[in-house]
Amino acid sequence: MKVGDHMASYEMDKKNLIKVGNEIITLKKLFEVIPVSVVLINRKGEHILDSKVLLDINNSEPHALVRHKVAELSKEDANIIERDFGLFDQNKTVPAHDLAINNKTYKVVVAPLRNDSGYAFAELAVLTDITENKNTEHRLAKLNEQLKQLASRDGLTQLLNWYSYNDICNKMIGLARRENTSFSVMFIDIDHFKKVNDTYGHAAGDTVLREVADCIVENCRKTDIIGRVGGEEIAVYLPQTDCHDAITLAEKIRIYIEKEKFDAEGTLINITVSIGISNDKPYYQTIADIKKDADAAMYMAKSNGRNRIEHL
Ligand code: GH3
Ligand code: MG
Ligand code: MG
Repeated sequence: MKVGDHMASYEMDKKNLIKVGNEIITLKKLFEVIPVSVVLINRKGEHILDSKVLLDINNSEPHALVRHKVAELSKEDANIIERDFGLFDQNKTVPAHDLAINNKTYKVVVAPLRNDSGYAFAELAVLTDITENKNTEHRLAKLNEQLKQLASRDGLTQLLNWYSYNDICNKMIGLARRENTSFSVMFIDIDHFKKVNDTYGHAAGDTVLREVADCIVENCRKTDIIGRVGGEEIAVYLPQTDCHDAITLAEKIRIYIEKEKFDAEGTLINITVSIGISNDKPYYQTIADIKKDADAAMYMAKSNGRNRIEHL
């Protein structure tokens, strides 16, 4: 048998050579043609045999890595190999892991080579290029994030939509209960909004609605949860806010909007809002319970003359 230079120090059992007709396939030959990245590593963490594909990945000349320690290229990979042998010794499964080489990602699976006593004296590692999968995964994750954004935000005002507002508020209520902190909810409805649509058109109404939403956002804290919960109805969950502070904020918003000029297709118009407030009561379980009271308070504000605040 003629073995390659790098095989000289490596004992091969001649009986295990594969015969194809008159031809003999050596292990070295097999590693040269096998169309996957395979590497055989001994217990010292040295390369014993590398497939051509693996050498290509590493931009290495044939046999260049033989007897070289993995640690010379990567201390991290050397640690992984040490861990692998530790797991082999305990007869445990070695988990597959990802490995980055030259901007590509490979999935690495390994198997032990054991002697008759079961001692793992080498490991065979197979690397599969999963760069494309990783890129697709990344693109999908990004797309998912965009979809989540689209699903959670209202397209016109960019406020949270009804579903996400409720979802987030219910989580916030749970947190407030656990931490024993107060909270309040404001329910804001634009006064005589139908008239805006009827006089200036629906598109103008849309613009005004967007501007009102911006006014509310400007006056709230970053931690307040603001949602468009109806046509021209905006609800704000105020964490760590008692009734007094909620009324102060609602009054600030009411006056801010009352003084602002809104652009209705070129005509500057005045708008007012009615605001209902409900603050934490022991029997509140969900945002729906709270909204019922905030709703009722808002209707009180409407019947008491609009452009005002009521609380329950
Ligand atoms: P009130 O003072 O009693 O609240 O009077 P209002 O006219 O505002 O009456 P209400 O709140 O019941 O009606 C809201 C109107 O808002 C009805 C609907 O035409 C309009 N509206 C709801 N959503 C939109 C929207 O997305 N864009 C526009 N332009 N109008 C909307
Ligand atoms: Mg309304
Ligand atoms: Mg209204």
